[in-house]
Amino acid sequence: MSERIVIDEIDYLITCDEENRVLRNAAIAIERDEIVEIGSSGSLTGSKSVSAKGRIVTPGLINTHTHLAMTLLRGWAEGVDLDGFLKKVWAAEGAIMDEATCKLGTELGALEAILSGTTTTLDMYLHPQATHEGAVNVGLRHIAGPIFFDFPGLDSLEWPDRIAFARSWPKRLVEIGGPWIPTYLMPHSTYTDSPEHLLEVSELAKEIDASIHLHVSETLAENEDVQGRYQKSPVQILESSGILDRHTIYGHGVHLSESDVATTARRNGAVAHCPGSNMKLGSGLADIGSYIQAGVKVGLGTDGCSSSNDLDMWQAMRMAAHLIAIKRSPTEVDACAIFRLATIEGAKALGIASRIGSIEVGKCADIVSIELSKPHLTPIHDIFALLVFAVGRGDVTDVWIDGEQVVSASKAIKVDATKIMSQANERVKALESLKGTF
Ligand SMILES: [Zn+2]
Repeated sequence: MSERIVIDEIDYLITCDEENRVLRNAAIAIERDEIVEIGSSGSLTGSKSVSAKGRIVTPGLINTHTHLAMTLLRGWAEGVDLDGFLKKVWAAEGAIMDEATCKLGTELGALEAILSGTTTTLDMYLHPQATHEGAVNVGLRHIAGPIFFDFPGLDSLEWPDRIAFARSWPKRLVEIGGPWIPTYLMPHSTYTDSPEHLLEVSELAKEIDASIHLHVSETLAENEDVQGRYQKSPVQILESSGILDRHTIYGHGVHLSESDVATTARRNGAVAHCPGSNMKLGSGLADIGSYIQAGVKVGLGTDGCSSSNDLDMWQAMRMAAHLIAIKRSPTEVDACAIFRLATIEGAKALGIASRIGSIEVGKCADIVSIELSKPHLTPIHDIFALLVFAVGRGDVTDVWIDGEQVVSASKAIKVDATKIMSQANERVKALESLKGTF
């Protein structure tokens, strides 16, 4: 018989289910990768029991747009807009981002993610097999996918090789193992992939039953560039090239016209809102309130650490809330709705809400436990306001992903964090010679 773990004596259980139930004095039973029972404190039996006395227990946070390996470039491109950012970052990537470095950077990023309560990431980066292997070592539910550019790029892959690699992706995922993930294809954007190539990607996505993730309308300059080349907006290209025939989630989606938003809603598309990166690079303030009203699914993301500097989803929630207050009105800020963006709505945006995003029987056991007995978390008038505006990643103590405990007492269990940090520090020394060349 498999092990049955009970997380007992939970002070506040935030389910994020359809009724948005918050249970007091609750318990959860986990078997294998799944939540099998939810009951009151002391009512469930198991082969192992973990006390969550004085804790808030929530679904794991879902980061719907990031580039984990770019943790190695944290602080590398400061005081720049997207254009200046890309110049600096591409030079650094050219210098160090081989397969082994991508894996190391992803291990570092995955560590940062799980220690802060993030259990799922949608991660677009070079060498996805290497990055995925790194993240799986750490225990993260890591949605990687083949990437596509018109040009060979740093991975030196010509277009037919990209297609061949992508066709073999589902088989490779099975071989690598780790927490279940959906199949995704990740063409970079409409400014780096031609409409003809996007059509090929959409046909392949249909063939292997994949969803699609790409950058869309991150800046006004991108919209102008694409409009100038094709007389269409990025979203119009996605529609005419068949991309929107598949489940698609846009990275950023800052500058969507009303008709782009309507198209996205009609085609069941989603947006990964990255408020930190969008503000830091001055890309703009996405009006997600209007997207949600139109029926677009919205999740939250941090983007890569080279533009947002960390993978802190608590900060992403806070910034998303503040942006709604500034862009629309403080009366439209609903902390509960914001917390749902980082959990169940993120799962919907990824097209996998039947598996993750809430604490419900039958769902994957992606669970986070947060220490409550702290001055900055006292008193509790509104549990969701506490989660969105006061809880920080340092308050996360225990994390389970796919039923496996990956963080205990705020320490990663599966890998040696100190070793990964020292390897990362060693590897970036190769960037020293590039400093001062900008
Ligand atoms: Zn991005």
